[in-house]
Amino acid sequence: MHVLEDYRKIVGTDVIGEIHKKAGNLYNTNILHINSTYQGGGVAEILSSLVPLMNDIGIDTGWRILHGNPDFFTITKKFHNALQGEPIHFTERKKRLYYQANGDFSTYTHIDHDCVIIHDPQPLPLIRFYRKRQPWIWRCHVDLSNPDQKLWEFLTDFILRYDKVVLSNVNYKKMDLPVDQTIIYPAIDPLSSKNIEIPEKDALRCLKKFGVKADKPLVTQISRFDKWKDPEGVIKVFRLVKKEVDCRLVLCGNMATDDPEGSKIYRKLLKRGNDLIESGDLILITDPSSSNSFFINALQRISAVIVQKSTKEGFGLTVTEAMWKGKPVVASNIGGIPLQITDGESGFLLPPHGIDGFADRITKLLQDPDLAERIGNRAREKVLKKFLITRMLGDYLGLLSEMLENR
Ligand code: UDP
Repeated sequence: MHVLEDYRKIVGTDVIGEIHKKAGNLYNTNILHINSTYQGGGVAEILSSLVPLMNDIGIDTGWRILHGNPDFFTITKKFHNALQGEPIHFTERKKRLYYQANGDFSTYTHIDHDCVIIHDPQPLPLIRFYRKRQPWIWRCHVDLSNPDQKLWEFLTDFILRYDKVVLSNVNYKKMDLPVDQTIIYPAIDPLSSKNIEIPEKDALRCLKKFGVKADKPLVTQISRFDKWKDPEGVIKVFRLVKKEVDCRLVLCGNMATDDPEGSKIYRKLLKRGNDLIESGDLILITDPSSSNSFFINALQRISAVIVQKSTKEGFGLTVTEAMWKGKPVVASNIGGIPLQITDGESGFLLPPHGIDGFADRITKLLQDPDLAERIGNRAREKVLKKFLITRMLGDYLGLLSEMLENR
C-alpha cells in the first residue's frame, strides 16, 4: 500500500501539501465506503487506492461490501442497464429482492461513522434500514442522463434521503431531483500495479506468459464483457483494419462478481470471432488472467492502439489508464470519454455506433507511429493534470469538509 509522499515525484510538492492541508479539517473523523464488489470494474479499482490513502492522511476510513445472492446481482445488473436507458420488466418481486438484500446486510453491518458514502445503485436502499445520525452521500458512477422512468421513480424514494449525490459528469445531473448534486471526476492510481511504469522487456515477458503474441501490432479493448462496451462492434471494426494492416486484436474482459451477463457475451464472441480466433488474429482473454493487474498494465503498454467502443460509458477508466501510458485511444464520443479525450489531439472520438470511422482512425495510427506518439504524449499530459488519484482525493476531502462542517 502506498503513502501520499510516494506520489510527490509524480504530481509535485504543491499538490501533496494542499492535500495535507485539506485533511486537517477532517482529523478524528470516521468515514465508511460501501459498494458491492472488491474486484472487477472501476469502482473497486478506485476504492482500493482511495481508501488506503484516506487512512494514510489521518482519516479513519473503512470499506464494506454489500453481500448479495446471484438473484440480487441479476436484478441490480438489470437496474444498472435500465438506469442507462434500457427497458426493464419491473416487477414487485425484483423490488422486494433488491430491498430485502439490503435489509439483510444491515442486520450485521453496524454503522456509527461520521459520514457514509454509498457507491452505485446496489446498496442504495441501505439508508432505509438505519436511523440517520450522519450525512449519507450517494456516489453514482453510472450515466444517469436517460434512466428508465419507472425505475428512477422507485429509486428516488431512497435517493431523497441522501444529503448529497455525487456524479461523474455534469450532464448526468437530474434537474427534477431536489437533492444537492456535485461532480467528482474519477481518477487512476499511477502507482498501482495496473499503472506503474514497467520496463518493456518485463511487459513482453508477461504477455508471453499469458499467451499473447506480440509479433504484430496489437489493437486492444479491455472491458468487462458487457453489451454497452460493444465487443462485437470491435470485431467488425477489426475486420476492416485487418484489410489494411497486419495486426492482431485482443479483447480482454473480466467477469465482475456483480455482473452475471459476462459469460453469455463471452460465448457469443467465441462464435462471432471463430475464424479470427482460429487464425490467431483474435485473442480473447478472460478470468483469471484478465483480473491480473500487472497483465493489464503490460497489455496496455505493449498495444499499439487502444479501443473503447462503448455505447454507454459512465467515465471509462480504461481510457484513462491507456492515456496515462502514452497510448493513442480510439473511442466513442459518449459519457465520460470526451471529458478525457480531445478529438484529434489527445486521442480520437467517434460516434459510438459507427464502424468505418473507428477502422479509419485505428488504421491511420498503425500506419503512422509519429502521429501515435504525438497523440499518446498529449494524452499522458492530460491525465497528469486532471485524472490522477491525488486530484480525486483532494475533491473527496473538500466534499467531506463541507458535509461535516457543523459536526
Ligand atoms: N478491467 C480489468 N480487467 C478486465 C477488464 C477491465 O482489470 O478484463 C479493469 C480496467 O482496467 C478498469 C476497470 O476494470 O480499471 C473498468 O473500469 P471502467 O470505468 O473502464 O468500466 P466499468 O467496468 O466501471 O464500466
